[in-house]
Amino acid sequence: MANEATSSSSAVSSLQQEQQQDEEELMLYGAGSGWVEARTSCEHLNSLASDLSHISTPDTPCFRCQHPAENWLCLCCKDVFCSRFVNKHMLQHYQQKNHCLALSYSDLSVWCFSCDAYLDVQAIGQLRPVYEIAHLLKFGEAPPFRTMECLQVSFSQAGS
Ligand SMILES: [Zn+2]
Ligand SMILES: [Zn+2]
Ligand SMILES: [Zn+2]
Repeated sequence: MANEATSSSSAVSSLQQEQQQDEEELMLYGAGSGWVEARTSCEHLNSLASDLSHISTPDTPCFRCQHPAENWLCLCCKDVFCSRFVNKHMLQHYQQKNHCLALSYSDLSVWCFSCDAYLDVQAIGQLRPVYEIAHLLKFGEAPPFRTMECLQVSFSQAGS
């Protein structure tokens, strides 16, 4: 009585080995030059304006001296003032009203006068919405925050 088990398990061999650890290390080291360290927390975020979904466009002139470009948006009252390299109206605004949070329309960085430091808009969740809107107004497209999500989507679609 031959009792042969003929069910052979088919070995699926997937040969998808990627050796990219060296490339990733190179990418990390390459991104380090010229980076200004930004704070990932700030105690003054409770002074942010409640509604930052409507802000002035990046070409809005300074509310005091009409300086036309590279101004700062006060994130507490949404007024626009010129930088410390022009007539220091954003700095004066902080000194007069204690509005310490400002977004630069020249490079979209966020500065806290009270912390005397730049703030990391990607790490601080309360700053991301207004940063995204400012980026949209300045460049006509959203900032590349969602790169990781896009990569994951295209990854799952890749297996046909
Ligand atoms: Zn000014
Ligand atoms: Zn203000
Ligand atoms: Zn602060």
